[in-house]
Amino acid sequence: MPFAALGLAQTLLTAISDQGYTEPTDIQKQVIPVILSGHDVTACAQTGTGKTAGFALPILQKMLPHANTSASPARHPVRALVLTPTRELAAQVYQSFLLYGKNIPLRCAVVYGGVNIAPQQQILKAGVEILVATPGRLIDLVEQKNVRLSQVQVLVLDEADRMLDMGFIPDIKRILGLLPPNRQSLLFSATFNDEVTKLSNSFLQQPKRIEASNRNATAELIEQTAWLIDTEHKQSFLVSLINKLNLQQVLIFTRTRQGTNQLATRLNRARLNTQAIHGDKTQQARMEALDQFKNGQSRILVATDIAARGLDIQELPCVINFELPNSAEDYVHRIGRTGRAGASGLAISLVCPEELKLLEDIEKLIKRKIERQDPEKFLVPETIPASKKDVQPPVEQKKAHSPSNRFIPSTVFQGETEIAWLLQSSRLNLKTKTLQSAPSTLPPRTTTKQPETAALFRKPAHSKHVSTQKPEKNTDKIDS
Ligand code: AMP
Repeated sequence: MPFAALGLAQTLLTAISDQGYTEPTDIQKQVIPVILSGHDVTACAQTGTGKTAGFALPILQKMLPHANTSASPARHPVRALVLTPTRELAAQVYQSFLLYGKNIPLRCAVVYGGVNIAPQQQILKAGVEILVATPGRLIDLVEQKNVRLSQVQVLVLDEADRMLDMGFIPDIKRILGLLPPNRQSLLFSATFNDEVTKLSNSFLQQPKRIEASNRNATAELIEQTAWLIDTEHKQSFLVSLINKLNLQQVLIFTRTRQGTNQLATRLNRARLNTQAIHGDKTQQARMEALDQFKNGQSRILVATDIAARGLDIQELPCVINFELPNSAEDYVHRIGRTGRAGASGLAISLVCPEELKLLEDIEKLIKRKIERQDPEKFLVPETIPASKKDVQPPVEQKKAHSPSNRFIPSTVFQGETEIAWLLQSSRLNLKTKTLQSAPSTLPPRTTTKQPETAALFRKPAHSKHVSTQKPEKNTDKIDS
């Protein structure tokens, strides 16, 4: 189906074709005609489905009759308001409006916290038709009488589930109270739970429900694996993984701001050019880090969940969960950074024993089994050098976990061996042979061990591969 069949104006069709889009995505096919017809909408659309254009295009079309070049602020009241949970998402939604509306004399602005408010005040005072905002900063601007919302005709609540997670509901309720009741309201959420449904029932009127993908499903094209590994070995393992799989652009998620910094330092020490973004960084620093990652100046971006929403990085090939998120829904958002708009992607999770429950919760949510890396299927190259000192006494196979949840015993992790396995698991061409069971010893090593891998999975003989490390408290949930 061509875009033209959706009833979009020629000026929008030209902008779409300039973007290289040839046909609408599933969500766009469904949602654009419904928004154009004036209905309220609740749309379940996972990240990367093209949902932003799904609401931006019909909103621009509805605003066409109001397009004008007058200098008078009175001729440019806010007519469409898009609320997003994070600054990054707000900036991206704004960019989409600019791209799709480039041929139309409509004014669009974005406001979010963490940056100087003065330029935002000026822009709003001059008047804008389309305003993209995070809730906190918008309320500040309303209180300071820089903007009025009494002429809003269309409201979009983007990433509604995230809004709930981040505690924005009181702010949203305040903003809703400032809008005219006879408006059109659209709610987009990647995941739907009872809370989101309650929220949508509270302010949408007889909404059309649109479900572009399975509820809480993850993109089909994303290959997902879980690598069962102790906390203490995760950092070294990660370095090996990136090097040996030659991953060139990787987004890595951690749970805490401090953990983000530590990991970025470790990766930079291993000569992997890494930037970190989290809520303690200034907006300027976050934008710069993101730009450097997008344009290839840095190879790795380590981020807290703040980056999980809305970041649109074209063809991001790989996402790694250094730690699983506490909420299974955040997993969907995290890995949604890869496999966008029909491209394939790889999502790797490093899972320590304490995180197994989280992994199971994720599988329940996405209704899909995530492939565990199983030591029994371990593959080694035919010529593995190993020195005697690298050989550990055999570790008893744990019975506590089901085979699919078994953690790799330290005897198996002898430097290159796990890498051989990884390469194989990534379907790269490496000469390998399968071991029926984990070897109790490996052939004698004749060369020196590789620094990153050798230190990797060495544990004291008494170690029971259970880490006592507790997650930090300062999880990154802020914004606006
Ligand atoms: P979103 O889910 O809105 O974040 O969009 C994900 C990506 O899909 C963005 O990079 C868009 O530019 C891209 N995109 C949106 N619509 C289309 C389309 N119809 N065809 C190809 N790419 C698209």
